[in-house]
Amino acid sequence: MTARNFFSKLEIKRIVAAIQEAEKDTSGEIRVHIDNFCKGDAIERATEVFFKLKMNETALRNGVLIYLAVKDHKFAIIGDEGINNVVENDFWEDIKNDMTQSFRNNLFTDGIIYGVLRCGKKLKAYFPHQENDIDELSNEISFE
Ligand code: CA
Ligand code: CA
Repeated sequence: MTARNFFSKLEIKRIVAAIQEAEKDTSGEIRVHIDNFCKGDAIERATEVFFKLKMNETALRNGVLIYLAVKDHKFAIIGDEGINNVVENDFWEDIKNDMTQSFRNNLFTDGIIYGVLRCGKKLKAYFPHQENDIDELSNEISFE
């Protein structure tokens, strides 16, 4: 089992579809990245990936990254400064807690999809979807 085959082709399709769905609610851009290992802190590694994927280059600085390291069982959700400037520090906590529950039950695809859709709904209040919305960041899953 590696990051690349952790999810089946069908599961990947479902996750990408969820990202498309979530982005109908918000101008925020949601991405999912799957690593094999994460030796250190998941948030630090997620931040590194965030910049590598140029997620800090959205117009409203409202990119969200859901990060998962499949071999080290770590995950994180981080948002860009446009989000962090307007929301409480624990904005992601309830989503993270629910995702953790799914992961504990080995429901990884459902957990990710749930997280993606919840991100869309939560972001809607601060970053509603715009009529002339541009898909600034790919909806495809990024792999190590
Ligand atoms: Ca967009
Ligand atoms: Ca997108």
